[in-house]
Amino acid sequence: MSTAHAKLSPSQSSRWLKCPGSIGLTADIENKSNSAARRGTTIHQAGEDILNGKSVSPNNGVQISVGNIEFLDQSMYDEAKEYANYVQAICKKDDEHELIVEMVVDLNSIYPEDYDIEDENKSGYADAVIVENGNLHIVDLKTGAGLVSAEENSQLKIYAYGAYEELSVFHDIDNIILHIVQDNERTGGNRTNSWEVTPDEIIDWIEKEVKPLAAEALGDNARCIPGETQCKWCPAASFCEAANKHAEELMDDLFEDIEEDDVKASAQILPIDKVTSFLSNFKFIENLAKSYEGRIYDELAEGNDVDGYKLVKKQTRKKWSDEIAAYEKLKDWCKIDDVAPRKLVTPNQAEKILGKVSTQKANKFNELWIKPEGELIVAPTSDKRPAEKAVADNFEDLDDEL
Ligand code: SF4
Repeated sequence: MSTAHAKLSPSQSSRWLKCPGSIGLTADIENKSNSAARRGTTIHQAGEDILNGKSVSPNNGVQISVGNIEFLDQSMYDEAKEYANYVQAICKKDDEHELIVEMVVDLNSIYPEDYDIEDENKSGYADAVIVENGNLHIVDLKTGAGLVSAEENSQLKIYAYGAYEELSVFHDIDNIILHIVQDNERTGGNRTNSWEVTPDEIIDWIEKEVKPLAAEALGDNARCIPGETQCKWCPAASFCEAANKHAEELMDDLFEDIEEDDVKASAQILPIDKVTSFLSNFKFIENLAKSYEGRIYDELAEGNDVDGYKLVKKQTRKKWSDEIAAYEKLKDWCKIDDVAPRKLVTPNQAEKILGKVSTQKANKFNELWIKPEGELIVAPTSDKRPAEKAVADNFEDLDDEL
């Protein structure tokens, strides 16, 4: 699996398509690898190895394949295996299918014709690409907790374009299906989803939207266009003047109506539209504040002075210096269940431990668990989950029944 990225990286496309200036501004910023990213890389590697027929099993830090020395625990292995199973299920639909694992997708055609930088990587890396029965499938494994939708997913659409250009020379392709495989404990269940689109729709989008924005992004006058989604994870956020200016404007908006006399005289109810506009603006400012905190940390960690700030140690809690030794002593001194209570695994964990079981056993197992209703929470209308019925309506229904 490759980690090198093109400037017009498909995985960052949701940012640069909204803010073409981000390509230039992030160019010299080193991407920091964190534990979640390293975990994701290992799961991808394991998934790739399984699909390539290599032997992979959970381990505790033993190499899972040549050149990779990451830790692969049971839950990481399970994620990789679910992904491989999903890809293999698509392949089984057609004996004549073609599967390309970790396909190197040529992105040359989305770059401007006059853009020619020697040795520049202009490729994307699609986790799995399959052609079966006239369908082109682009499958992407997501290992994070943030829910990802396949619908209108720019990363997958760009992979689809590159893969279609290459594979339609050998196959008749009428339909494109984009898949996000996301099945981990942090997302509260299986969030795998897919979305269909035609080759013509993808080509039209690339020509009308992607190519002009790509040309702007690589030119000298690319606009920096701040917004909540594109700025949230932008590595340049704490250096970006446009984001700072946008935050200032939002703050002016937030507080412009609050004048001292009004506040003193205020015994009025705040209208709901003021609440929603405050909240949506505040999210941008909150995210930017986190980026600024990160920049101050980096400065201080490098030994530079930052007026008004210093590094301090976080509070920590006591922990066992040797768990086995502590257990041996405590079991003599206390009731074993008080100091080392047994904990039942979750239904999801039990399912994975049990593996494939008979229908009779599966039916019995399914009687053992329930899925409680999720509590109602507030989400923006753009959220993909369907809107729930208001609580007040439920009471009205009850009144009708009584
Ligand atoms: S912080 Fe926002 S506005 Fe600035 S470059 Fe990044 S995405 Fe663009």
